[in-house]
Amino acid sequence: MKSDNSNSLFQRALARTPGGVNSPVRAWKAVGAAPLFISTAQGAYVEDEDGNRFVDYVGAFGPAILGHAEPRVARAVAAQAAHGFSYGAPTRLEVELAELIAAAIPAAQKVRLQTSGTEAGMTALRIARAATGRSMIVKFDGCYHGHSDALLVRAGSGAMTLGVPDSPGVPAELAQLTLVARYNDLSSVEQCFVQHPGRIAAVIVEPVAANMGVVKPQANFLSQLSTLTHRYGALLICDEVITGFRLRFGAASELFGAEPDLIMLGKIIGGGNPIGAVAGRAELMDLLAPAGAVYQAGTLSGSPLSVRAGIETLKVLAQGGAYERLEAAGAYLESGFASALAQHGIAGCINRAGSLLTLFLGVTEVRNADDAQRADRARFARFFRAMLERGIYLPPSQFEALFISLAHSEEDLKKTVDAAHQSLAE
Ligand SMILES: *Cc1c(COP(=O)(O)O)cnc(C)c1O
Repeated sequence: MKSDNSNSLFQRALARTPGGVNSPVRAWKAVGAAPLFISTAQGAYVEDEDGNRFVDYVGAFGPAILGHAEPRVARAVAAQAAHGFSYGAPTRLEVELAELIAAAIPAAQKVRLQTSGTEAGMTALRIARAATGRSMIVKFDGCYHGHSDALLVRAGSGAMTLGVPDSPGVPAELAQLTLVARYNDLSSVEQCFVQHPGRIAAVIVEPVAANMGVVKPQANFLSQLSTLTHRYGALLICDEVITGFRLRFGAASELFGAEPDLIMLGKIIGGGNPIGAVAGRAELMDLLAPAGAVYQAGTLSGSPLSVRAGIETLKVLAQGGAYERLEAAGAYLESGFASALAQHGIAGCINRAGSLLTLFLGVTEVRNADDAQRADRARFARFFRAMLERGIYLPPSQFEALFISLAHSEEDLKKTVDAAHQSLAE
């Protein structure tokens, strides 16, 4: 595979950008390769600067659920661009997107649009702290909620891959307010509440964890977490930046009986453009300025381009059969990968929720971050490179999810399973 153009761009990038990239996982450090520079993407395919074409399972790390440059979305964004990119004033589009979200997610009575999932996390915490008058929060080892100070503790994929669970530059005084519990372990949460009575404002959780690789909640975990959190007077924040509109048309937390007070959204609701949102019960959301005193703002919040792309994406997803097709595609890959593991006698397991999937190598069960850490990263790196050689572009870390889109055809999926057989044999 030729990669001269990508390699020379990477050299230029290294001279002018820290690590050559604008987000760490893109540097491919975990898979021992130099990153490919992407020049164009269509449907299920990405193409790099050397003209190599790949079946793409990165999917922009989540937003590209329809595939890339879906014609209806692309047309809508182009049409919107002709009317201006941003006004610093409210628009009809923002009302429509908020109404779409509220109609699909009962817990999202009011919505504040922002420009990233990171912002949604910051704001959700600020609301929770203001509402409860408490300052501590509980998060789960391996869950990622953006890179704000309070949440950059044991934060999953990027941090896990680089082996730096906490970042320099996060004040210890702040990090001390963040308690870390173990995913799928209710007693670890109860312990936090018992040890810090009356001090915990919120528990924040990914309803299906997707930043330590995919890890599903065990039966009743989320409903019991909900009850426990509320019993101690704290708020439950469900981070649905990945899972929102990915696993069903609405929130995944509902599937598992969770009753979130606040929900974070992002990725899919921007249709591939910058977006984030915090949503929740009206009286909590009305704490935000200018209705209330909790400050939050953004020059490009509710950007017409992002919002238009999001509305069009949700309209396509709302058409019948989208989630059934995504489920079928996920099930096909799961069984194909499982038979490849079995046939070549390689230890591993596949965790999947709908169109989110992780193939863990070297471990037979992954229920939390400790299990995930035992996966064989060196073997995953070899698998990643072998798949790439065969035209399959996987997320460049053992701790990311594959993102399947509606654009992945049966042929693409079959090619992927064939490549997995050959790569695992190698
Ligand atoms: C991507 C992600 C975020 C952060 O969103 P950004 O738009 O990258 O800031 C937050 N939570 C989860 C679960 C995510 O996957």
